[in-house]
Amino acid sequence: PKPLASRIALVTGAASGIGKAIATRLAAEGACVVIADLDLEKAQAAAAEIGSTDVAIGVVANVTDESAVQHAVDAALLAFGGLDLVVNNAGLSLSKSLLETTVADWDLQHNVMAKGSFLVSRAAARVLIDQKLGGDIVYISSKNSIFAGPNNIAYSATKADQAHQVRLLAAELGDHGIRVNGINPDGVVRGSGIFAGGWGAKRAAVYGVPEEELGQYYAQRTLLKREVLPEHVANAVFVLCSSDLDHTTGLHIPVDAGVAAA
Ligand code: NAD
Repeated sequence: PKPLASRIALVTGAASGIGKAIATRLAAEGACVVIADLDLEKAQAAAAEIGSTDVAIGVVANVTDESAVQHAVDAALLAFGGLDLVVNNAGLSLSKSLLETTVADWDLQHNVMAKGSFLVSRAAARVLIDQKLGGDIVYISSKNSIFAGPNNIAYSATKADQAHQVRLLAAELGDHGIRVNGINPDGVVRGSGIFAGGWGAKRAAVYGVPEEELGQYYAQRTLLKREVLPEHVANAVFVLCSSDLDHTTGLHIPVDAGVAAA
């Protein structure tokens, strides 16, 4: 694979949280990045924090919209002349129990994460196959793709869908030298818009801790007793996409300070 320093990356949902940390890390390694998110101003502001438009650009793209996804991929081609690395990171969590979950809730969760990732991977794969240079597709799935937790049936089910997309696409795209891997974070409280936007309050209520102590609560139940931050997920993306792991595909790396192994 091309060294990260000469790669062009598209990161969805990168105006905030984990996605923004991933885009920042990839740019720090020398990659050019396209930040795709729901709000153009926020996407452009995140890009401007990373660097000039020679290095990072922000585009508006709702990943549930096929033509918007194509626009984001085209933006990478137009601005930087190619595409090598795609991170399916856009997401949200409604944090509802089975009985609370409406059909609209179910559809929204699955549209953004399962269908959104499918649309992004498909649009990107067309370019990667055509370029004949290989490439990387990374899914930010979740510990919840495997392990059950209360009050998040639609979220967890769609994360499991994403995890299986990783295995399916690793099998389908391997012949083209395209690696497809996933990351399963857990407990990234600080810096996460999902946690700040209501999930944190609900989780804190479920665990019976004050919301401001939720990060420490998650940390103390991990094997390493460490709080997981967006930067730690970004580090895993960097490692996964580095040439040192160029014989690895279809893998999920937990970034949870050991909670899934406990
Ligand atoms: P976040 O809210 O900070 O980031 C999510 C981003 O996705 C936001 O910028 C949001 O605007 C964007 N987004 C939402 N719907 C979109 C759409 N339809 N099209 C384009 N962009 C859209 O939250 P985060 O915690 O950084 O989450 C990032 C990813 O990490 C999500 O997929 C989430 O499920 C996953 N994840 C997070 C944790 C955690 O502990 N925070 C754990 C496991 C997995």
